Order: sequence, then structure tokens, then C-alpha cells
Amino acid sequence: MNIDTKVINGQKIASIIKDQIKDVINQAYPETVGLAVISLGNDEASQIYVRNKQKACDYVGIKSQIYNFEANTPLEDILELIDVLNNSHSVDGILIQLPLPAHINPRDLISAIDFKKDVDGFSKESLAGLITGDTVFKSCTSLGIIELLKYEKIKISGKKCVVVGRSNIVGKPLALMLLNEDATVSICHSKTDNLIDEIKTADILITAIGQPKFITGDMIKPGAVVIDVGINRDINQKLCGDVDFDSCFGIAGYITPVPGGVGPMTVAMLLKNCLTAANLKI
Ligand code: NDP
Repeated sequence: MNIDTKVINGQKIASIIKDQIKDVINQAYPETVGLAVISLGNDEASQIYVRNKQKACDYVGIKSQIYNFEANTPLEDILELIDVLNNSHSVDGILIQLPLPAHINPRDLISAIDFKKDVDGFSKESLAGLITGDTVFKSCTSLGIIELLKYEKIKISGKKCVVVGRSNIVGKPLALMLLNEDATVSICHSKTDNLIDEIKTADILITAIGQPKFITGDMIKPGAVVIDVGINRDINQKLCGDVDFDSCFGIAGYITPVPGGVGPMTVAMLLKNCLTAANLKI
């Protein structure tokens, strides 16, 4: 099999979107858009993600405030800050950087955020709105994937989409969003029987499982669109996705790389959600 696989350049598409956001914010001057990021502990990956978000905010002109707590901070202290941020006029969006230390249940913090400032799209209101069709904030990674597909003019309607991974922050919201785009969707997870058979049926395969290079070329349908959400380290500590890029290249019709695929789109969609929170539009 030798298909001319197109590598989707998420970095480039995200840059175009960021420039559009920058223009909107420039035009809206002197109105400012504010994002508060709350993180706990000093998980290395989290710190990198927070820095990336801060850098992206600086680029487009969103004022970001980072609140970094010690890992052992009591829940009440963070809830107190969230209450202040909920009532602050200079803060349009609030997000909690995941993962959190074991003593804190993410839902306790996420549910404390005013859903009108839930720019990550993780609140019950945002998730339920994906079913009823009136979501204000869509989960950034899922939204970024839909935007990538649309940017590449990949038809979603009527296609068989297989989402591997069922987390509340990626797999489930994405499956609902694909369904809302008229795809036929199946969601797979660690208990799925005959996982590979299911993966082989996908016209569009999206993997968000956190297993380095799990999906290999022999598992996918020739010509499939392969979207890799995973951010992992391989045995040489090199960044990689859930997809074994090399063995899928030449079999997939489209593929996203890691890094440079879905990741930059997640950040771009966060900025877009901040505009929505501030009632500005691109
Ligand atoms: P979670 O750990 O919350 O969920 C992982 C999901 O994958 C679970 O549903 C689990 O099944 C399933 N799973 C795990 N192993 C297998 C397997 N061998 N076969 C089938 N299913 C499996 O992860 P997240 O959704 O938070 O993140 C997934 C990945 O995406 C991670 O690598 C993360 O770093 C990355 N990520 C990347 C983002 C980006 O912007 N690019 C944003 C967010 C996450 P079960 O439910 O049965 O346990």
C-alpha cells in the first residue's frame, strides 16, 4: 500500500487562527480579555502547558494571570480564589490545569467555576449543552479537531468516526461533536472487545488514550484520516503520540503529527473560547 499521506500541519492552522484572534482583540481595544489559569504542584508537563497558554495569550493580547499553588494546598483555599475570579470583571475565563494532586477531585474545582467563564468547556453545563445543542464553550481539544477537519475540507457528515478514549475532556465531548456533524460515531476504550476490528472500520480515526505508538499501520483502513491526540514519551523519552506515525504514513490518507498536530489547536481554541467569554467574535 502506498498512499500519498497528507500530514496535517496543526501548528500552521493554529497560527492562522491566532492571528485572526489577535486582529479581533486589537480592534476591540481598549476592551481587554482576561484569562486566569490555576495550577497545583510542579508537574513538569503541566508547567510547559501553562507556559504555552501564557505565551499564546501574550501573542494575541489576552491578559493572563497564573495562580500556581503548592501541591498540598487545601481545597478551600482554591475554592476561595475561584470565587474571587468568578466575581472579577477583568477575568473572562478561568481554567484549572489538569492533572491535579490526588487529594483534589477535579470536579470539585471545575464545578465551582462560573459556567459563563468555563473556557475549557469541562463544566456540567458545557458538556450537557453538547447533547442539547446549546453549548457556549466546547472542549478545546475536541473543537480543535473539528476545526482541523474543516480546514482540510475533510467530509465528516455520513463518515464512520471511531474515537478511541472516553475521557470527559476529550473522547466523550468529541464523539458528541462528531455526531452533531452527522458522522456515525463509535467510542472505544480499554474494555472494548475486538478493538482493532473496530479501528479498521474508521474513515476518521481519533485516538486519545495516552499509549505511545499504540496504533500501527496494519490496524487502520487504507486512506483513513488519523487524528492523534496523545502526548506521550517513547522509550527514548522522545515526544510521541498514540499513533505510530511511521508505520501509518503511506497507508493513512491524512495524519496529524505529534508534536505539531492537535496540541497547537487546543491552545488556539482556548483563546477562541476566551473571546466567546468576552463576547467578541472571529
Ligand atoms: P484519560 O487517561 O483520561 O483517558 C484515556 C482513555 O483511553 C480512557 O477512556 C481509557 O479507557 C482509554 N484507553 C487507555 N488505554 C487504552 C487501550 N490500550 N485501548 C483502548 N483504550 C484505552 O486521558 P485523556 O483523555 O485526558 O488524554 C488522553 C491522551 O491525550 C493523553 O496522552 C493526553 O496527554 C493527551 N491529551 C492531549 C491533548 C492535546 O491538546 N493534544 C489535550 C488533552 C489530552 P478506560 O476509560 O476504559 O480506562
